[in-house]
Amino acid sequence: MPDVVFPLDSGKKFTDQKYLGHNRWHPDIPTQVTVRPDDTFRVHCREWFDGAIHNDDSADDVRDAPLSTVHVLSGPIAVEGAEPGDLLIVDILDVGPIPQEDSGPLAGQGWGYTGIFATQNGGGFLTEQFPDAYKVIWDFSGQTATSRHVPGVSFTGIVHPGLMGTAPSADLLARWNRREAALIATDPDRVPPLALPPLPQDAILGGLTGAEFERVAGEAARTAPPRENGGNQDIKNLTKGSRVFYPVFVPGAKLSMGDLHFSQGDGEITFCGAIEMGGFMDLHVDVIKGGMETYGVSENAVFMPGNVDPRYERWLAFSGTSVTLDDEQHYLDSHLSYQRACLHAIDYLTRFGYTPEQAYMILGAAPIEGRLSGVVDIPNSCSTVYIPTGIFDFDVTPSASGPTRIDPGAGVPRSSF
Ligand code: ZN
Repeated sequence: MPDVVFPLDSGKKFTDQKYLGHNRWHPDIPTQVTVRPDDTFRVHCREWFDGAIHNDDSADDVRDAPLSTVHVLSGPIAVEGAEPGDLLIVDILDVGPIPQEDSGPLAGQGWGYTGIFATQNGGGFLTEQFPDAYKVIWDFSGQTATSRHVPGVSFTGIVHPGLMGTAPSADLLARWNRREAALIATDPDRVPPLALPPLPQDAILGGLTGAEFERVAGEAARTAPPRENGGNQDIKNLTKGSRVFYPVFVPGAKLSMGDLHFSQGDGEITFCGAIEMGGFMDLHVDVIKGGMETYGVSENAVFMPGNVDPRYERWLAFSGTSVTLDDEQHYLDSHLSYQRACLHAIDYLTRFGYTPEQAYMILGAAPIEGRLSGVVDIPNSCSTVYIPTGIFDFDVTPSASGPTRIDPGAGVPRSSF
């Protein structure tokens, strides 16, 4: 096993650990650990809410989830000799849940969760149809996930970090803040908000205190969106065996990671749509000097996915076009057409006995594929969502004999405001 350079004690809060991580992006968050090019090392990661979500049958914790506290990230890890303009090579040698025999109170210890966030607390891709908070607990058995809240389904996890990236430079951070503030200003009272401005409340900044904390907390970017540094890309294919090339914006690159997922469908559509968990990552790093210029990589990371994929061979695919549910025509709007494809799939799955919430959760958490199938055929874009038929323990395809009805059980825990 590689040396654990960023250990986390499962019995302690994120802020009480030996090394202090962070939950904002800023170039002045202090380096916690330094490694060298060609080093291999292990990092522990806490689940994104640091234990606020529990293994129970109530969605109150998801409804009240403290979004100001996310994402708790391990790092920054400096790589000796990395300079702005370089590319940082990060190999994901291994990634998995908390390696522990017994189940414990933290997500990752044999279980994880998927949530639908209430419209008033972040919302999700289909928040108009699903305005309340819901929760699903998934149990892990080796590579397989099953849920007492969603009967008739089991699937192979595709474990990956939802979030990994390098620190922004001061200039890049200022650009983020400028452009995101301009977007917020177009509709400042929107629920859910258009973007999240810097928020000193609940900021964790690698141990900074006093006036320095105040300055950095007032400027530091929230971790929700993906940006030029990588960040919260939620790419399900960043699994074991992947190689990622991150732009370096500050001396040492200052790599950080977290938000591990046991599995996720393309789009992570319920917002907390992956199966969230804590765990470990084994990483190898190296540096390509001047690589940003050489390869033209300044606008986000380039990556080579690993070869570890669930082997599903048959799929049932649903398409959607850029027309609203009220039959209003939109012009080549792929966001809308993917929503329609997902709503189409959800409606279909309810014919087999699932509640709409259970169907939505399956699309968020199972290894479904989402595609922009057509983006030029005016006025309709065409998006598609592919569901592997093998995740169901009954025949989910259309047939003359009609759908098999499953017993949906008690359904998915729900909490409204
Ligand atoms: Zn996540």
